Amino acid sequence: MGLYADRAGLIDSENAFKMGPYIRSLEAQGRDIVKCNIGEPDFPVPAFIKEEVKRQIDLDNTHYCDPQGIPSLRAAIARQLAETRGIRAEAERVVVFPGGKPPIGLCQQTYCGPGDEVVYPSPGFPIYESFIPYVGATPVPLHLKEENAFSLSGAELAPVLSEKTKLIFLNFPSNPTGGVASPEQLQEIARVIRARCRAEVRIFSDEIYEHILFDGHAHHSIASCPGMERNTIIVSGASKSFAWTGGRIGWALFPTREEAEVFKNLNINYFSCTAAYNQEGVRLGLESPEGPAEIKKMVDAFRMRRDLVVDGLNAIPGIRCLKPKATFYVFPNVEGVCRNLGIFDAFAALPAEIRDRTSPSTLLQMFLLFVHGVATLDRKSFGRIGAEPYHFLRLSIATGTEELRKGLARIAEAAGDREGFRRFIEKGEHLF
Ligand code: PLP
Repeated sequence: MGLYADRAGLIDSENAFKMGPYIRSLEAQGRDIVKCNIGEPDFPVPAFIKEEVKRQIDLDNTHYCDPQGIPSLRAAIARQLAETRGIRAEAERVVVFPGGKPPIGLCQQTYCGPGDEVVYPSPGFPIYESFIPYVGATPVPLHLKEENAFSLSGAELAPVLSEKTKLIFLNFPSNPTGGVASPEQLQEIARVIRARCRAEVRIFSDEIYEHILFDGHAHHSIASCPGMERNTIIVSGASKSFAWTGGRIGWALFPTREEAEVFKNLNINYFSCTAAYNQEGVRLGLESPEGPAEIKKMVDAFRMRRDLVVDGLNAIPGIRCLKPKATFYVFPNVEGVCRNLGIFDAFAALPAEIRDRTSPSTLLQMFLLFVHGVATLDRKSFGRIGAEPYHFLRLSIATGTEELRKGLARIAEAAGDREGFRRFIEKGEHLF
């Protein structure tokens, strides 16, 4: 009998968290690293929210609370969802979690088992794929195409859906591509789901970037399509909208009260509850007119940086970068750089056991970090299955403008540094 249960080896991870120790070790050696790897806004939590949290702590609101989420926050969430999505939403169907991430795995545990298929976008948030083998279900990646601006049509979705489909992850606005969905597109997706899936299929609509939109784009949810409320779990949270990743407040609106009860019980089993003082802070964030004003300041800064970075990347030979409509990520195609630097040849010449653990964009990611001092994330950080033909990096623009300019200059230098890449491969360190 080994130490671990078989399932312990089946869960994958989020690479973004693995970069931190590399960066810290390089910084400890005196290296300056431009951090374009981070998936969190570089803004402080809005002052009015911080004040409320401090006030709540002073009121000793520091004990166990309702495991489903405090009623005042659930009511505020239900109101916001009803107003912005044009749907019915009651506080009884809302469950608060420690972040937007926990419902991803908890939904898979609750709805899926062996024989069930889970459909998810690739590239997409890595935790969708990570959990699927852990719960014994079958992963069905839906590869989003650069030539379609990483968007998703009903026609693309149709062939991967069947009676076996139990859970479908949608993520608009999307990490890592910054894509958004139009109402027409969502209607088409909804039609295909209704035609091909069982009545009880669940759509996990991850809407955590709902407020980070550029160029007049509006947020639309599949739950707003006629009939889709019955199948959709809307998930969002405070991590991105209020730059509060450390507050660990996320939420989901479930199609039925009965399902909300199941997730409340999972909360009891796993977490008991999430900090009531932070929940009060989020409640005020949703209710106060200061909330949208603070979000707008952040989004304006992201838009300016997006333009700077997209233009800067497109000026580098071998890089092609679409302009994201939302989020604080850009997702350039780096196939040309991989070719120019000899990465494909170097990859092909690696011993099989190293090749299995890396990819051309991983080699570029590591070369950029360890030789040129820029932290990015490779393509397979956003879904591994079937990712081999695709060569992209994700850069977060949630860092200061000067840092971004410095990062662009370093990437431009790296893109022409064939000799440096040859030495990096020869050294044979940090290849995955
Ligand atoms: N969903 C998506 C698409 C994300 O990008 C993230 C964070 O990066 C999350 C969920 C998780 O957010 P949280 O920090 O609230 O758990």
